[in-house]
Amino acid sequence: MNQLGHHINGETVTGRGDRHSAVFNPATGLQTAQLTLATGAEVEDAIQAATRALPSWSATPAVRRARIMMKFLQLLNDNIDELALLISREHGKVLDDARGEVTRGIEVVEFACGIPHLLKGEYSENVGTRVDSWSVRQPVGVCAGISPFNFPVMVPLWMFPIAIACGNTFIMKPSEKDPTSTLRLAELFAEAGLPAGVFNVVNGDKEAVDTLLTHPGISAVSFVGSTPIARYVQRVGIEHGKRVQALGGAKNHAIIMPDADLDSTVNALMGAAYGSAGERCMAISVAVAVGDIADPLMAALKERLEELRVLPGTHPDAEMGPLVTREHLDTVLSFVDSGLKEGAKLVVDGRRTDHPDHGDGFFMGGCLFDHVTPDMRIYQQEIFGPVLSVVRVDDYEQALELINRHEYGNGTAIFTREGHAAREFAARVQAGMVGINVPIPVPMAFHSFGGWKGSLFGDHHMHGMEGVRFFTKLKTITSRWQENNTQSQFSMPTMK
Ligand code: NAD
Repeated sequence: MNQLGHHINGETVTGRGDRHSAVFNPATGLQTAQLTLATGAEVEDAIQAATRALPSWSATPAVRRARIMMKFLQLLNDNIDELALLISREHGKVLDDARGEVTRGIEVVEFACGIPHLLKGEYSENVGTRVDSWSVRQPVGVCAGISPFNFPVMVPLWMFPIAIACGNTFIMKPSEKDPTSTLRLAELFAEAGLPAGVFNVVNGDKEAVDTLLTHPGISAVSFVGSTPIARYVQRVGIEHGKRVQALGGAKNHAIIMPDADLDSTVNALMGAAYGSAGERCMAISVAVAVGDIADPLMAALKERLEELRVLPGTHPDAEMGPLVTREHLDTVLSFVDSGLKEGAKLVVDGRRTDHPDHGDGFFMGGCLFDHVTPDMRIYQQEIFGPVLSVVRVDDYEQALELINRHEYGNGTAIFTREGHAAREFAARVQAGMVGINVPIPVPMAFHSFGGWKGSLFGDHHMHGMEGVRFFTKLKTITSRWQENNTQSQFSMPTMK
């Protein structure tokens, strides 16, 4: 049995705690590793290491920080296949999807390599007579990241490369369900020449999170996970004087307009609803069919879903893998039961699978509901599994109102051939990321990722310039060089 600990002060170390959690291979249902959950004292060790490393790292010229980042980028590219396999073995997602996850994370490192340019300040000469003024962005200090199970490489890479490139030091607390790939990132970063203590990983649960949230040595916390925990992290972090960005859950709707191209829309919805077994914060979980497209859409989705190849993530033919844990599988199955009880029509029932390759793995097939209404639990709550709910409406205004009234506002999409509807939608929809004939509009690394409403607590989105702003403090300097200052000034200074 593989024993997993932490990465503190440049070294991978075994945990000292007496609490453990089991890590499974979801495709076999077997435990593959035992994780020693960090104690408060171990988190303290990581904070001390990061605090010691901070003065010299923040004083290292940005060009030199960028060069280490470039070496890290090279090592990530050299090890994409290994990282993808580590992800698939603990998360369950299909290998090709895992490679895509690593690539989207690598793009943030590419962005962070440009840090000397990104940190360039602004300068105004002669704002008053012989007075100049300029602004710089300086690191905030020791930062922490807390990430969810569904992207164990990409979400940490949204956070720490930018924070570290900006001159901060960092402590990452990955999900206890699939920690191995994040630990591997720390080893690769150390191999790239990162000084000890600049990047640390502590594996743990609520005890570790609470230590980070309340510790006076932590200046900023970046969180991604479910909405109740995001709210908690933001509240406790702010109460303890930290800046916090906390990204939460989602219930992403796609509007299918009557003029949408049916084949390409169905292909897009299949990937967006069932890819990664629906365990994506940008998954489409509600399709809003406008007018008479509903019947042909349902028929095409049903036909395609019945052919979906649900197999272990490492199988070359797999389109969808298992769910992450048995508990999560049970939760998703209970949502399907509740949809049936509330009167939705289960057009494809994926609750049971009997493929010989499934063994004791945490598998289910894709489920498709028709005639879902806004009062149902399967409509209101995030299921985070391979379940697509179709809501039928008469017109575009009803579809838009559904999205705008929903508690969450992460991503959304419209499928149409009409430019006017698409433009209207982009302007009026209440969500942070909008796709027009693009089902999963995840912004590139040089833009920023984040939702609205119950999907994000805080002021800054992740990565891109929003990430640089979150991980730096603005300082504005005003300077006067004159030979003699002959008068005191008691009124509010204005430029002369
Ligand atoms: P989660 O909220 O259960 O866990 C996230 C992190 O919080 C983990 O590191 C976990 O150890 C920690 N945590 C869990 N319970 C805690 C508690 N009581 N106190 C303190 N810390 C706690 O989320 P998850 O199940 O790992 O991930 C799935 C969720 O993440 C979904 O809701 C999904 O929508 C969301 N997510 C959101 C985004 C986004 O960008 N908005 C991206 C990915 C995932």
